[in-house]
Order: sequence, then C-alpha cells, then structure tokens
Amino acid sequence: FHVPTPINEPVKTYAPNSPERKAVQEAYKAMWNSQIEVPLYIGSEEIKTGTTKNLTSPHDHKHVVGTYHLAEKAHVEKAISSALEARKKWAALHWEQRAAIFLKAAELIAGPYRAKINAATMIGQSKNIHQAEIDSACELIDFLRFNVAFMTQIYNDQPKSDATMWNRVEYRPLEGFVYAVTPFNFTAIAGNLPASAALMGNVVVWKPSFSQIYSAKVIIDVFKEAGVPAGVINVVLGDAKMITDTLLDSPDFAGIHFTGSTGVFRDIWTKIGANIGIYKTYPRIVGETGGKDFIVAHPSANPKQVATGIVRGAFEFQGQKCSAASRAYIPQSIWNTVKEQVIADVKSFKMGSPEDFGNFVTAVIHEGSFDKLARFIDQAKKDTDAEIIVGGNYDKSVGYFIEPTVIVTSNPHYITMKEELFGPVMTIFVYEDAKWNETLHLVDETSEYALTGAIFSQDRYAIQEATTVLENAAGNFYINDKPTGAIVGMQPFGGARGSGTNDKAGSALNLMRWVSARTIKETF
Ligand code: GLU
Repeated sequence: FHVPTPINEPVKTYAPNSPERKAVQEAYKAMWNSQIEVPLYIGSEEIKTGTTKNLTSPHDHKHVVGTYHLAEKAHVEKAISSALEARKKWAALHWEQRAAIFLKAAELIAGPYRAKINAATMIGQSKNIHQAEIDSACELIDFLRFNVAFMTQIYNDQPKSDATMWNRVEYRPLEGFVYAVTPFNFTAIAGNLPASAALMGNVVVWKPSFSQIYSAKVIIDVFKEAGVPAGVINVVLGDAKMITDTLLDSPDFAGIHFTGSTGVFRDIWTKIGANIGIYKTYPRIVGETGGKDFIVAHPSANPKQVATGIVRGAFEFQGQKCSAASRAYIPQSIWNTVKEQVIADVKSFKMGSPEDFGNFVTAVIHEGSFDKLARFIDQAKKDTDAEIIVGGNYDKSVGYFIEPTVIVTSNPHYITMKEELFGPVMTIFVYEDAKWNETLHLVDETSEYALTGAIFSQDRYAIQEATTVLENAAGNFYINDKPTGAIVGMQPFGGARGSGTNDKAGSALNLMRWVSARTIKETF
C-alpha cells in the first residue's frame, strides 16, 4: 500500500499587493454583500425545511450574510437511513478510490477554493487572515493529505504468515454510521472529523456548530466537487439535543467523532452508556474537549521568549483555541521584564473587523461568550486578589469585542486560574523563585484538563523536572514555545483527563478508531 509522501501546505503571507491578498479581499467583499442559503444535505437531496435562522458575523452581528435550514426529527432519521444505504457501496469501494477523493479535496482547497474558504472563516468565525490561512487552508489541506498516508500505514500493519498458512488483517469500516460533531473554532477540525471517518470507509452524519456554518458550506461544496458520493457525509443542522438523541437512539450508531465542550461530551457518553444494550456493536467514542492550558517559566527562562509565548498563546484568534494559554506561572526574578513586554505587545494590537488586514484581534464568537467573559473581567475588577494590568474593556454594540486582558493574581487558586473561559483573558500568578518545584506540583494538581502546556527554561535539569512532574498534565507539551499551533504530521494533537480521549488528531492513532479489523487465517 503506497501513496505519495504528503507535504505540509506552505502558509501564504498575504503581503500587501500580493495576488493571494487580492483574491481573499475580493472573495470577502462578494460574500459580505450577498446571501447564502444552507440546506440540509441528506442522501442525494438538499432539503430546505422552511424553518430557518439567520447567519450573521460575530464582528458585525446585525449584518446578515445568509440563512440556514433546521432539521426535524424525521430529517435526522432520514440521514441515518441514507447513510446506511450509501454504506452498501462505500464500504466496498477500494481504498484507492476513497483516497483519491480526499486527496482531490485537499488540492481543491489549496487552489480554487482557498480564497473562498478563508473568507468564509473570516466572516463566519471572525478569524483574521493569518489565523484563517493556518486553519481553513493549511491545516485542513494537511489533514486531508496526511490522513491518506496514515491510512496506508495502518493497512500495511500485517501479521506474520508461514509455509502452512497465510494470515492477514482486513481493516474494515465500523458496522453502522459515525456521528461527527464539530466546533466553531477550527474549520480544519470541522472538515477532518467527518472526512477521516469517511476515508476509512465509514458513512457519516455530520452536525457542524451553528457558529461555523458559513465555512462548513464551503467544505460541503469541496467534498461534493471532489466526488464524495451522496449519502456518505450527510449534514444536519438544528436543535443539538434532538439531533444527538435521535442518532444515539439508533441501533446502527457505531461511533462518535467529537470536538466540543467537556460537559456536552460527558452527557453524550452517559447517554451511550444508558443505551448500550440497543447497539449492534460497542460504539467508538472519540472526543477532544476542554482545556485550561498553562505556561510555566523557570527562573532561567528567556523573558522575551516567555512574553511572546504568553501573548501569542493567549490572544491569537481571541484565545478561542482549545490549546490557548490561559494561565501562567512566572518567577519573581523575571516578572518585571516579562510584564513590560506583555503590556507593550498587547497595547500594540489593533482590534476590529478582519476585513482590515492590520487587525490582530477581532470579535469573540457570540453573545453568550461575550457576556461570560465580561462577567469574569468585571469580577476581577472588584476582587482584591486580582488586578488587571492591561485590557479590561469590552463593547458589543457592533460586534462582540473583548480587549485582550491580562489579570495578575496573588491567589494561585483564583477562579480564572481554573475555569475555562475560551476567550482573550490570561491570568498570571507570580511565584517566588525558590518555589519552582512546588509550583510544578501546584500546576499538576490544578490541571483537571490536560490538553496543552508549555514550559520555558534554559536549564536542562529544570526541563527534565518539569517534563516529569507534568507528565499527565498535557497531551501536547511544549518546551520553549507557546502551547498552540500543532501541525499535522509534526505534533499529533489531543489530551487526556477532562480534555478528551487523547486519540491524537493528525495521526494513525486517530484513524485506527474508525476501523474494525477482521483477522483472516487461511490454511494451505
Ligand atoms: N490544534 C490546535 C492547536 O494546536 C487546537 C485545536 C483546538 O482548539 O481544538 O492550536
């Protein structure tokens, strides 16, 4: 089983006057000034149910860019039967045919759809162009390309045979359908969760996040043009609980590929447990959930590197990455230098619509998120054990804008050192240099989540100590770098504890969950 060696898609810079900048600006303008209508995609049908909601933009929430249709229970049931019908042919299709479809999808995004998918991510999810490019273009392309290589890695893993017998393992798709639940914060994840299961021969019912529908529509168009047959990936939008309950109540439910909140994932797991007797097969449960990701600096750390790690880790895409740094532990001896640079950097950020390429910070995803963040900021303004050293303002009159905010606390158990906020708010605790080891244990003990974390140090002994004490506190552990920006094929991504099942997106480990192997022994 051999396929071309995948390469990571180079990130374009969108320099002034570059053709890629012009293309994305034109796509943005055209999309901003027109209306799209997003139906349900079930089997070969595009269904307009007539019950619709408006699609708006987080940085200009009164501006409507389209509508989407909402499913009833009967539509979800139809999505299941359409998927199972499509499975009859899809599961039997040679893997090379499936691979060719998704490799073509990668190249469609790399070329003709690149400006469109980036503009959709800028409008619908308020990413600035650089955050859109690394996500909806490069990471999605990488997932699609590398998954094919990971797939053949799995297929190549074959048992020994001898003169009397031929043993082989057939990596079959799961018996039933896979439910893909995707988040707003990465267009790449939205595409990868249904596509990776489908690549392995599964049929999928996909529920994108309400806040990612614009770019989801572009993904659907790409998959169609690349040749994903009708019924292989069905898309339903609507009441999340109704959709989930309907799918989990089906005896043919065979797995869930999820990225979203810890609470929702636990509810889904509980429901699957309660339903376990009805399923034909034990469902695969794969989920990436919350995070409360840390930065810990050692007194030997380079303060400039630490400050850059804090600012980029906490504030790129408004802190709305599961991997975003949201708490930091800085030793007293370097704190003043780190503090000065953090404040200067944050003050230099421009905030506003992503249409202006000079804006680093744009809006947070929706009003619920805005209100929650504003509440925590207000509380920090009142609390005696917290001080806001930069930021702290917010305004939702046009878009959901929250200034990047840094809280310094004298209490390592302060609420924002523990609670996942999912926004541009970073909390810092300054520790006495002599308490380095104690601080590492504190970080581990307060890590209910274990997604990403970063340590900064120039001292090898300290690096080894941190790597050991924090061995279970982060599935992606960074030494002298920010804890965000994992690259497919380089840093397989995922965490344990409250952060998920750690089935590393962007690796063969993840694709293994979407196969049910049959061992065949043939005696001569
Ligand atoms: N893979 C992304 C990163 O490394 C984060 C994914 C997520 O937010 O779920 O930054």
